[in-house]
Amino acid sequence: MTSPMQVSAVWRTLSTRLVRAGRSDQDDGAADEAHGFVNPPVSRGSTVLFPTLRALRQNGARRYAHELTYGACGTPTQFHLERAIAEIEGGTHTQIVSSGSAACTTPLLAFLGAGGHCLMPDCVYGPTRRFCDTMLQRMGVETTYYEPMLPEAALHALMRPNTQVVMAESPGSHTFEVQDVPMLARVAHEYGAKLILDNTWGLHVFQPFEHGVDVSIQALTKYAGGHADLILGAITVADDNDWQVLRDGALQLGQYASPDDCWLTLRGLRTLGVRLERQSASALEVALWLEARPEVLRVLHPALPTAPGHEFWARDFTGASSLFGVVFRPGFSQAAVDAMVDALGVFGIGESWGGYESLALPSNPTITRTLESSRFGGPAIRLHVGLEDTDELIADLEGGLAVLRAASE
Ligand SMILES: *Cc1c(COP(=O)(O)O)cnc(C)c1O
Repeated sequence: MTSPMQVSAVWRTLSTRLVRAGRSDQDDGAADEAHGFVNPPVSRGSTVLFPTLRALRQNGARRYAHELTYGACGTPTQFHLERAIAEIEGGTHTQIVSSGSAACTTPLLAFLGAGGHCLMPDCVYGPTRRFCDTMLQRMGVETTYYEPMLPEAALHALMRPNTQVVMAESPGSHTFEVQDVPMLARVAHEYGAKLILDNTWGLHVFQPFEHGVDVSIQALTKYAGGHADLILGAITVADDNDWQVLRDGALQLGQYASPDDCWLTLRGLRTLGVRLERQSASALEVALWLEARPEVLRVLHPALPTAPGHEFWARDFTGASSLFGVVFRPGFSQAAVDAMVDALGVFGIGESWGGYESLALPSNPTITRTLESSRFGGPAIRLHVGLEDTDELIADLEGGLAVLRAASE
């Protein structure tokens, strides 16, 4: 198992990257635009003026090179963020898009076609599932949901000649299964399919391209933005052909990102290392405290040996985020769990995660699962641990558990 000591050693290297990546002084030819300031400016604009028509006609090639052609195709602020995310994820090219959801749908549209087939993990982010079940289905793309922990032979059995994409999300939304990503990549590639990973949970602790991923997705809304004040997504690849397909798809769909939000995300990246070091340690403390409570059936935190896919986490990840699940004993009703969440004061009630503030949300009513194996075995909540003191977070949960017990009597 990865020890906390090893985790901080990796973070020191990553922290330096997070502090430097995408800065004006780190990009060739971009230093002048910042006039010597550490941070690149917010650059807004639509029309770009060229000295001659001949210069404008070279825009075709510029489009793939993160160079300015027209505001809708990307701004200098966006290009800085794209370079930063590519460096952090270990890829070669990143496309910033308007939201994390757009970061899920854009590569699916770019890499799938009518008559194609897509494999989705049963634990996939809810809106991605809805996209497959509605728009992709209307467009003649068939989706099969697979058990996220399935063995290699079972995956082979699901692959078809028209399987164009295997999607992964590790750990999974709400159920937190850590997937065997290298195995998924190996099998997908054997059939000529792309492996697309939603790596939002693993932004700072999972290097997708070292494990065979073709396309890595980030909801930058979460830890990268980090302050609950922006919506943005990133799609990263490590292959030039994949980049052409992705870039063409994003431009055809009119994907655009506000330079102000790109700038805020760059600012969020600078403190991501220390934020996550603290949030991850606090989350583990809270998770261990919950695991010892009699009301709790299981804690779904990838760093705990009892978590689904813990062995893959220990093998492939360098640390953990601060988002995890808690399953209560089946004797507690959903209504009692709702009363508990309503009673929390330090943990807020709300969608999303990755900001500086702690959040709690019931999991059962909000998730859809096709396969029986994904069911929890009891009512469940998802906790996001922020930067508050752990003593106060634990005291808040202790009060919540008293409400849970009282509501069940
Ligand atoms: C939040 C989230 C998204 C979507 O991000 P938005 O910016 O909120 O659209 C996608 N995938 C995962 C795993 C998420 O948690």
